[in-house]
Amino acid sequence: MTPDAEAKMQFLFALRSKGVMDKRVLEAMEKIDRGVFVTGVFSERAYEDMPLPIACGQTISQPSVVGLMTQALDVDPRHKVLEIGTGSGYQAAVLSQLARRVYTVDRHKRLVTQAQEAFDTLQLTNITAFSSDGTRGLSDQAPFDRILVTAAAEDPPSPLLNQLKIGGIMVVPVGQSDAVQALIKVTRLETGFSYDELRQVRFVPLIEGMGPE
Ligand code: SAH
Repeated sequence: MTPDAEAKMQFLFALRSKGVMDKRVLEAMEKIDRGVFVTGVFSERAYEDMPLPIACGQTISQPSVVGLMTQALDVDPRHKVLEIGTGSGYQAAVLSQLARRVYTVDRHKRLVTQAQEAFDTLQLTNITAFSSDGTRGLSDQAPFDRILVTAAAEDPPSPLLNQLKIGGIMVVPVGQSDAVQALIKVTRLETGFSYDELRQVRFVPLIEGMGPE
């Protein structure tokens, strides 16, 4: 086996051993090459189950966390999904394999440009990436079947709750940015919202307003 094939096998093994069991999620993560989303000095570590630095002081999430969040989101091929926090674009690319359409936004223009290049390389045509402040959601395209927030909020932002369909699910890390946060699954019911705490996670903060670049 080539070193590359072995690294990729270990990558899938790590996902399974951390609890990513959903067959469609595993297939999507096998198909989307994380190496395309990690550049520069860290590229040789793309298949390790580790978060890694990307531009603008941000991070590409740990693959097993991407897998667990995607699994919790329970995406269906008919779904329209919104992701807040494009970052490298890796999570959006994984979602693109499971959903009809993915909208993803980041407050850093530079990250959106780089992510778009990766989407083009992989010919992922059902992702629309914008630079905008995700705390406001994306009212033009609302409502969404699923919303995934990949930055830590002190509370789930109310515009995002409002842009969720009835029966829709949002997965969001909630807590102070300098501490461990709780990953919360919010389901919109006819009469309100139900909240389930899934596990502890650590994400960079959700910051209101646009980034400097
Ligand atoms: N999902 C990404 C990792 C996200 S890191 C991946 O797969 O690589 C968190 C991202 O959230 C950062 O890129 C940061 O710029 C972005 N972010 C933080 N606050 C934001 C906001 N208000 N609106 C949009 N993006 C935001």
